[in-house]
Amino acid sequence: MKNPVSPLDSHQTFRFTCSPQVTCFNACCRDLNQVLTPYDVLCLKQFLNISSNDFLDTYTEDNTGPGSGLPVVSLRFSDAEDLTCPFVTDAGCRVYPARPASCRTYPLARRVSRHRETGRLTEHWALIREPHCLGFNKGQMQTVDEWVNDQQIATHNRMNDMLLELISFKNRFRPGPLMPSEKNRVYTALYDLDAFRDAWFKEDSPLAINTNIQTLDRSKTSDPDLLIVAMDWIRETVFTPNPAKT
Ligand code: SF4
Ligand code: SF4
Repeated sequence: MKNPVSPLDSHQTFRFTCSPQVTCFNACCRDLNQVLTPYDVLCLKQFLNISSNDFLDTYTEDNTGPGSGLPVVSLRFSDAEDLTCPFVTDAGCRVYPARPASCRTYPLARRVSRHRETGRLTEHWALIREPHCLGFNKGQMQTVDEWVNDQQIATHNRMNDMLLELISFKNRFRPGPLMPSEKNRVYTALYDLDAFRDAWFKEDSPLAINTNIQTLDRSKTSDPDLLIVAMDWIRETVFTPNPAKT
């Protein structure tokens, strides 16, 4: 049997098209462990025009990463036998413009590695040929770069790489499981961004954090910039060996 996972360079091509015409339409939107990143949550709550707290309560489950104590937020799939995603409909994904990065990237998978000396990140791509997915039979050839561009994944990847940097920082300076109170702070800051905003801007004199001044300024009106502030705040107040007092 052909290996279902094949590494690809960003300039290499693959044939794939997904549309309502494929007989497997929606087959991939069930029975998944769909982990959400903070930026996925941000995009989905904005698209649905609800608060981050309402989004998390209605559509997600929160677990704790074994070993790290970090929050792991996943979409809550139906309890029915078909285990469907809460956003799948007969007509397809009802949050398509705001779908998570992993849904955009499929049938590709992305991983990043960091150069030990320069710290530079390198992307690695692989094509996943799952037997139920019939999108490989037809459609146009495209490169990985063209797929990333077509699916508008670049901003997701940039924000998710910042999260990876933050987790890597935690692994170096705050290894081992977080205390429940620390996990709650991470959860609120990174996932419940509207609650973080309320707390952050209520401060009479916001804590000094090592964040670009323009980002701080934009965070008053921009959720992605506020998420960058939240990541910096978590780095300085939870993940450092001698956290700043809050
Ligand atoms: S978010 Fe949309 S694309 Fe992703 S699994 Fe759910 S229905 Fe499918
Ligand atoms: S299984 Fe593949 S072709 Fe079918 S709907 Fe999902 S991504 Fe598209």
